[in-house]
Amino acid sequence: MPTAKNFFTPSEKEKIIQAIINAEKNTSAEIKVHIQNFCLGDPIKQVQKIFFKQKMHKTIHQNAVLFYIAVWNKKIAVIGDKGIHEKVTQKFWDELINDIIPAFKKNHNKCEALCNGILKVGEALAKYFPPTESNPDELSNEISY
Ligand code: CA
Repeated sequence: MPTAKNFFTPSEKEKIIQAIINAEKNTSAEIKVHIQNFCLGDPIKQVQKIFFKQKMHKTIHQNAVLFYIAVWNKKIAVIGDKGIHEKVTQKFWDELINDIIPAFKKNHNKCEALCNGILKVGEALAKYFPPTESNPDELSNEISY
């Protein structure tokens, strides 16, 4: 049975980290991926909890985005911080996640689907949050568990 840590292969993990790095090049926003084995209860509540636990609400422009995957109950969710909610609509998040779900359901091209989602967030946020001069990497690009 796959677990959070081997849900993606090492080379897929590298691709995901690279997608985050590429997405963050064009924006001051920060993107993270968190994977757990099991999500107890509402995934949105869980992802909010992780968001705060990882201090993702503390970015300068309040523009961090967290992708969340619960492997065993096949849940995926994404949330963005306050700054982003003022700019994009719920429809943006719904479409983003709806583009990723089929790959997870079919267990096919999951890494590609997630990377595309990450890049899409980067493109969308580049408009509202262009990179600052120093564009610091405020949050680690590594996948957390
Ligand atoms: Ca980062």
